[in-house]
Amino acid sequence: MPDVTDTTLIDAVTPLQGCLAKLAIAPGAAGEVARYTLRAGEHRFDLNARLGRPLALEWTGAIACTHCGRATRKSFGQGYCYPCFKKLAQCDTCIMKPELCHYFEGTCREPEWGERHCFQPHVVYLANASGLKVGITRRTQIPTRWLDQGAVQALPVLEVDSRQQSGFVEVLFKEEVSDRTNWRAMLKGETERMDLAAERDRLLARLESGLANLRERFGADAIRPLDEAPVAFEYPVLEFPAKVVSHNFDKHPLVTGILLGLKGQYLILDSGVINLRKFTGYEVVVS
Ligand SMILES: [Zn+2]
Repeated sequence: MPDVTDTTLIDAVTPLQGCLAKLAIAPGAAGEVARYTLRAGEHRFDLNARLGRPLALEWTGAIACTHCGRATRKSFGQGYCYPCFKKLAQCDTCIMKPELCHYFEGTCREPEWGERHCFQPHVVYLANASGLKVGITRRTQIPTRWLDQGAVQALPVLEVDSRQQSGFVEVLFKEEVSDRTNWRAMLKGETERMDLAAERDRLLARLESGLANLRERFGADAIRPLDEAPVAFEYPVLEFPAKVVSHNFDKHPLVTGILLGLKGQYLILDSGVINLRKFTGYEVVVS
């Protein structure tokens, strides 16, 4: 069989079988919609080209751990087998809540992984997916992180030296702004655009003393303001759902419908929506 790479997209009518990875999303050029690629095993499938046409995904019942490849009856933490979920640093609570980083207590699950991933520049950003939210990400995950959330706008605000520091800054921002995306609202329609630079200035002024405290703790230049321009994203959506109903392979292994749109990690079908990231590792047949 010839090698299948990102650039050799399979003919759209061929059924494909493989374990799902999260959707690969590339930002569109200025004013153009994001490009979505479904990844199932070694197969790559251009979803933008399928818009307006029927799409079927059928779960075979198999799940392979996204880390070790082992078969698992259930998926933990969006794609891991139970042993990996309990063992890997990337599955630890401190990834979701970086302010709980316990590296310095000597209890990091994988100190070397932590050094490579957590002790790297992190960015605190504002985004608009379903309204204003704060978030953190590794510098290298920009803009993937925002596209995964279905953000229509984003603005890097501060840069720090570690994931833990970004967690402390995020906790501070959460006094004023949510850190959550309301996925139903995100999928329901056009999100109203905001002036993120003005929001940034407002929040930085309000949080000034809190930020000064963190700088006292981590060093005067530990939390650096970024002077970047807001970015905007467009998603390929023909029609937003009036009512958001979600598909779930665990309940109904066959998901079919007309593909009406792609936003964040969701497929929008005329029969309902599905968060494909939630089913990372699920083996599906795509047709
Ligand atoms: Zn595993």
